[in-house]
Amino acid sequence: MALRDFFIALSENQLLNSAAQKYGLRMGAQSVVAGTSIPEVVQTIKELNRANISCTVDNLGEFVFEKSAATAAKNNILAVIQAIHDEQLDAHISLKPSQLGQDIDIDFCYENLKEVVALAHQYNIFVNFDMENYGRLHSSFDLLDKLHKEYNNVGTVIQAYFFESDENIEKYKDFRLRIVKGAYKEAEEVAYQSKADIDRNYLKLIEYHLLHGKFTSIATHDHNVINLVKQFVKQHNIPNDKFEFQMLYGFRKDMQLDLAHEGYNFCTYLPFGNDWYGYFMRRLAERPQNLALVTKQVFNK
Ligand code: FAD
Repeated sequence: MALRDFFIALSENQLLNSAAQKYGLRMGAQSVVAGTSIPEVVQTIKELNRANISCTVDNLGEFVFEKSAATAAKNNILAVIQAIHDEQLDAHISLKPSQLGQDIDIDFCYENLKEVVALAHQYNIFVNFDMENYGRLHSSFDLLDKLHKEYNNVGTVIQAYFFESDENIEKYKDFRLRIVKGAYKEAEEVAYQSKADIDRNYLKLIEYHLLHGKFTSIATHDHNVINLVKQFVKQHNIPNDKFEFQMLYGFRKDMQLDLAHEGYNFCTYLPFGNDWYGYFMRRLAERPQNLALVTKQVFNK
């Protein structure tokens, strides 16, 4: 099994996930997860804001199969929105519909999402729906469509590895979109498998949305993509307020600061909470070199 598949399989292991939650941030996860509580995450946002970096806050949560867990997640997200407003932070919300009950009862999930989006709307805070695996793709878009009829502060993610992202980028061009390569293991019937194909489609989608879309978040740690985007926006006179770069908290910190200093809008994706395990395993799947984070933590004890 390839290393990527191995870590993705670990990320999907519910037993390991529950065990990890009991022990707090471990194995190097503390370098890529901004704490477990709202005061901790607020502190980090303030530091990043001082460096001219905005944040998108993800209250981590996976394997939600009970309504009580979805309700607890919703209440946490509402508390984060309130904190962003009260502290006047430059930040918005990223959430996964599955966290709010997508796998339990779609109407219940919709009501939870609506409550979150409505409070955020009241405070003029944007809410991004993160995208997960293919099995959840269509119902996530359906939820987004339904909410967008009432609220304009919602947007989502387009994953370049899916064949159907070509259609979706057109369909959702009036939305604020984050464009990524895609983090899950997907079947060859629905998704490109090779890095070359994914990278090619990734650039194509970014360029389309920069030219025709509302606002583009280019979410990548890939310096080649970032350099090509810098050239593209220059050639096509795309103003800085039409796009931003995004990276995950803890990765390529110098590059994050450099991009902000160069005058580009920059947004750091800030995960926090006890449910760090699946998120951390997907980061190891993407880049096994991230294992260096783990070994450093183990040997520095
Ligand atoms: P890769 O293809 O992993 O790397 C390309 C090259 O960049 C590497 O070969 C290396 O040279 C360089 N590089 C990459 N990382 C580093 C590093 N840490 N240090 C030094 N060099 C490096 N996926 C989803 O499916 N759904 C989502 O909702 C989602 N949201 C995301 C939000 C953000 C802000 C980001 C950054 C990613 C998100 N992803 C999401 C994950 C995404 O789909 C990719 O799996 C992930 O970003 C890895 O691809 P990449 O574009 O960063 O570059």
